[in-house]
Parts: sequence; C-alpha cells; structure tokens
Amino acid sequence: MTVATRRGQASRTCRWCGGVGVRAGRKFCKRACAVAGRRLWDPATRFWRYVRKSDGCWLWVGSINHRYGWLVVRGRKVRAHRFSYELAYGLIPVGLLVLHRCDNPPCVRPDHLFVGTQTDNMQDMLRKGRCGGVTKAVAR
Ligand SMILES: [Zn+2]
Ligand SMILES: [Zn+2]
Repeated sequence: MTVATRRGQASRTCRWCGGVGVRAGRKFCKRACAVAGRRLWDPATRFWRYVRKSDGCWLWVGSINHRYGWLVVRGRKVRAHRFSYELAYGLIPVGLLVLHRCDNPPCVRPDHLFVGTQTDNMQDMLRKGRCGGVTKAVAR
C-alpha cells in the first residue's frame, strides 16, 4: 500500500536551522542540516514527542485511526503501540499482535503492552466484556 505522505504544504523553512530558501519538496536548506535534522527526526524522537506520560497510561496524542495511534516510519504507517513495543523489547514476531493489558488503545506504555495471537486477542476481549466489535466507552 502506498501512502501519500507528502508534506509539501509545510512551510519552506529549514527544519533544522529555520533558514529560508528550502527548495520545494525538501525539508532542509543544506546537507549539513539534513544530516543533523534526520537524527533529530528519527522515528523514536518523533514518537516520543507525541506521548504524554503519566503514572498510569502513556497516551499517544499524535494521529489516531480507529482508536489506535499511528505514525509514519520510513514511509510506512506503523501503529504507535507496536512501535513503542519494538522500541522497548525489540521486533514483534511476524503474525503476532501487540495487545493492551490496560485495554486503552491509545496507550503506548511498554509495560502495558504484550504480544499475543489473534486468538489471545479474542479471549482477552471476551474476558474484558468486549465482543463483536462493540466496545463500551472507556471509563471517563
Ligand atoms: Zn538549514
Ligand atoms: Zn496503559
């Protein structure tokens, strides 16, 4: 799936030094800025900018789709809680889901996450009283 991630509408100022004169489609004014800026904008750095930590859940405050946070990593959409899990524990085995112990989809706190299969997910949902895609509103 190709995802349009063009940010051409962003202002033409250098993301690193703030200087003007950045060519269309570019984010930085010169190579040195690109090198420094990419480091700043590496996925983990961007990720943490959108996390609000608390004593309980760490909430994703970036883009949300179907109740789950997501971000673009190297041109691909990645779910925020999966990204968080991989940062903390390493790669998620193929085919496994990252589930929430806290039943709070926007939460990205690594110790609230665990990997499981689709079956685990269904059992987990049943145990928590969620089924058939119907979800009770999260307690406010
Ligand atoms: Zn610059
Ligand atoms: Zn949580």
